[in-house]
Amino acid sequence: MPFHFDTSYARLPEHFYQRVALTPVSHPGLIVVNQALAEQLGVSPEGLASPEGVALLAGNRVLEGTSPLALAYAGHQFGHFVPQLGDGRAILLGEVVDRDGRRRDIQLKGSGRTRFSRGGDGRAALGPVLREYLVSEAMAALGVPTTRSLAAVTTGEVVRRETPLPGAILTRVASSHLRIGTFEYFAARRDSQAIVELTRYALARHYPEAPTPAGPAVALLDQVIGAQAKLVARWMALGFVHGVMNTDNCSIAGETIDYGPCAFLDAYHPSRTFSSIDEQGRYAFGNQPRIALWNLTRLAEALLPTVDPDEDRAEAVLTEHLESYSGRFNAHYAAELRKKLGLMTERDGDLELALGLLAPMAEQRVDYTLCFRGLANVLLGDDTKVVRLFSEPAPLREWLERWRRRLALDERPVEEQVALMGSVNPAFIPRNHQVEAMITAATEGDRAPFFRLLSVLADPYREQAEAADLAEAPGQDQFGYRTFCGT
Ligand code: AMP
Ligand code: MG
Repeated sequence: MPFHFDTSYARLPEHFYQRVALTPVSHPGLIVVNQALAEQLGVSPEGLASPEGVALLAGNRVLEGTSPLALAYAGHQFGHFVPQLGDGRAILLGEVVDRDGRRRDIQLKGSGRTRFSRGGDGRAALGPVLREYLVSEAMAALGVPTTRSLAAVTTGEVVRRETPLPGAILTRVASSHLRIGTFEYFAARRDSQAIVELTRYALARHYPEAPTPAGPAVALLDQVIGAQAKLVARWMALGFVHGVMNTDNCSIAGETIDYGPCAFLDAYHPSRTFSSIDEQGRYAFGNQPRIALWNLTRLAEALLPTVDPDEDRAEAVLTEHLESYSGRFNAHYAAELRKKLGLMTERDGDLELALGLLAPMAEQRVDYTLCFRGLANVLLGDDTKVVRLFSEPAPLREWLERWRRRLALDERPVEEQVALMGSVNPAFIPRNHQVEAMITAATEGDRAPFFRLLSVLADPYREQAEAADLAEAPGQDQFGYRTFCGT
């Protein structure tokens, strides 16, 4: 038995989920097992890669005594409330407690239809599965809280999208699959008892140490605000565009979840979007911090009926916590930017200094990752790498002087500053054009680009000379990248 499940979610009331009988696939085939993650979960990687393991990862076999669940949730999609979404193409196989005592969900994504599938086929195509596997693992290596990928298998079946595509199933690992949308599901049904229960469950599972002077709902909101403020600050520091920050894709545990239309910035601009369905730019790079607050406000509304019998008092206390978000986000973001600039002390004006670089970067559409990575070279006496990223270098040169004066105030050795910058400014990110090329190759049967990217991105802060091509910005013909929701 590769997994020893202990599924706490199954002990919640029956209307929190559906027990699902899985639909087997015709020819399951292994693509990849994440050895390090398997070991961390206390799962044998060899067991997972064996024919019995692959049958399990494909949904062709269910462990005795376990029952897969499709979780109920709702959500605001692009600002519009949908009272029922739910796991329409995913199921929770079960929960395991990992080597560090952390409880983790093991979920199959692309595992077939459930009660929540609506018109969908419940399946996933190979491309989006490999993209999620690769990008989620890259995010983990970059140090961002995220769901993880344990395995990917092919189904031997065709899924029909715009064109027929090979089918695949991802095994996703998450601290939980609780979302803001899970709370909204019960709020829409005026099921306060369920919200009370869900709140208790979420606090115990994710924030057992949270102080609760104003009661569990306020405590939970406060923790989720803190986790989301920190998470989105990490995204902003790395130039990550989630692309579909609907409330059903907003994790209570504060992990990045749902890698459908995500992308990393190449040419920097706050208004950048990549998703073909985000026509209004709602989820543009620079909007992400305020969208997180918008989502948190939906969580507060869902919790409201359980906070205080006096509605005004309930609203007042929730509002007070929501108002703390901006300050908390700004503090995290400023701290991220300081590290990116090699600053080791906090001084007034640091945020303005960083913005002073971002402005010409935006104006001149400078590659975000190359620019920050290149700054360390300036301290080592070589500014050519950075300067040549700017078509008009005068504003950069002025800024570099300002930055040097500020660095000098820290009175720290250059080596320390360079080391700090090297530990937060990656050399490698999953570049959109490379991810796209990887998907095309894999769909045509060549998985070598997938494994190459996977291995380089496992160590994104280290120079890897043999992978220099993967650090490059897209060429002119590779711009204009669009992502499509992975459905
Ligand atoms: P997502 O875009 O992955 O966040 O999914 C939004 C909602 O659509 C969720 O309820 C999914 O379960 C559902 N969904 C997405 N793709 C499919 C599919 N191929 N079949 C059934 N449901 C789907
Ligand atoms: Mg989703």
